[in-house]
Amino acid sequence: MSKLVAFGPRPAGSAELARAREYIIGELRSYGLKTWTDEFTAQTPIGPRRMANVVAELGGQSRDVIIIASHYDTKYYRKFRFVGANDGGSSTGAVLEIARVLAARHERPRFTYWFVFFDGEEAFCEGWTDCGTPENPDNTYGSRRFASRLEKEGELNRVLALVLLDLVGYKNLELARDTMSTRWLVDLIWQTAREMGYGNYFIEREEGIGGDDHVPFLQKGIEAVDIIQLSTYPYWHTPEDTLDKISPRSLKAVGDVVLASLPRIEQRLLNRRLR
Ligand SMILES: [Zn+2]
Repeated sequence: MSKLVAFGPRPAGSAELARAREYIIGELRSYGLKTWTDEFTAQTPIGPRRMANVVAELGGQSRDVIIIASHYDTKYYRKFRFVGANDGGSSTGAVLEIARVLAARHERPRFTYWFVFFDGEEAFCEGWTDCGTPENPDNTYGSRRFASRLEKEGELNRVLALVLLDLVGYKNLELARDTMSTRWLVDLIWQTAREMGYGNYFIEREEGIGGDDHVPFLQKGIEAVDIIQLSTYPYWHTPEDTLDKISPRSLKAVGDVVLASLPRIEQRLLNRRLR
């Protein structure tokens, strides 16, 4: 993920984000995954911007899909240089690593996995809801687009769960339970973390995140969880969100917990199907 940060500020529609996208696609292909991009033009408060979600597929025994996702854009700032080491960078790196590990396994997974990198999660205006309307918000451009596209193409019913990562690399990692996320997914992942000795990272406190890339999916009835450190990350949306705030131990903990949770999520989905 240091490579991503080295591209500099990566707001949606920028040349820097295009370079980051090429890097992400190159990595995914080097794992042997099939990739595609979902390109579109978003109407934003600063005019139309070209955006592209990146998707990589790991085919499973079932066509039903579990999505592991992150946004890969960074927030647009004119007044300072924002490189988003934790906000955008950390979770993008973590999803790449999860994809690499799953793709390297010999056996086909029980479900098909999509690793999705959303463009345009961040608002162009300063605050999350400063611009836009509830129907056309100035945020989550990529995830809203992707969820509607799947719906239009009749593919959304293949998606059984979405695991979203955002701000997962802080050295003082503290992930609270997002109250908007699907309860059983939160319970299962936090329980797995406790069993692995990561209860100090995945803490019991509840926190209302208020919106992220999982919301468009929740709104369409897809079960989803957001693993995010928001209120206790002191450098959120500041010029100090830089690499020195990131710890490889935090990233490894999150990656390990997600990887250990996946078979349990799969089992739960399979049991439900049998009932
Ligand atoms: Zn952000």
